[in-house]
Amino acid sequence: MSFFDSIKALFGGSSSSSGQAAGVYWIYVRCRRCGEVIKTRLDLQNNLSQNDEGGYTAHKTLVGNHLCFQRVEVILNFDENRRLVNRDISGGDFITAEEYEAAQDHT
Ligand SMILES: [Zn+2]
Repeated sequence: MSFFDSIKALFGGSSSSSGQAAGVYWIYVRCRRCGEVIKTRLDLQNNLSQNDEGGYTAHKTLVGNHLCFQRVEVILNFDENRRLVNRDISGGDFITAEEYEAAQDHT
């Protein structure tokens, strides 16, 4: 085992360092109308609907706190192992957790 392998082992050896707890998927979006960033928590155990053809689908509607009534509709498709395979959005754009945090700093 190399030095770096032992370091990785110390931290569990996984690449899931984004702070996402198991079974939870965070959705980060930016409202296309006012630019507000919104996040919501998707519980992969309770918020998914099973598809007839296999896999799962989650449908979320996000509305910001500002005076903007734009609804951001998000549809996420997961496989049988609850891994994200496809995502669709209307009324906004997907952003990363980093972009979300950066936007928070400006307020
Ligand atoms: Zn908005």
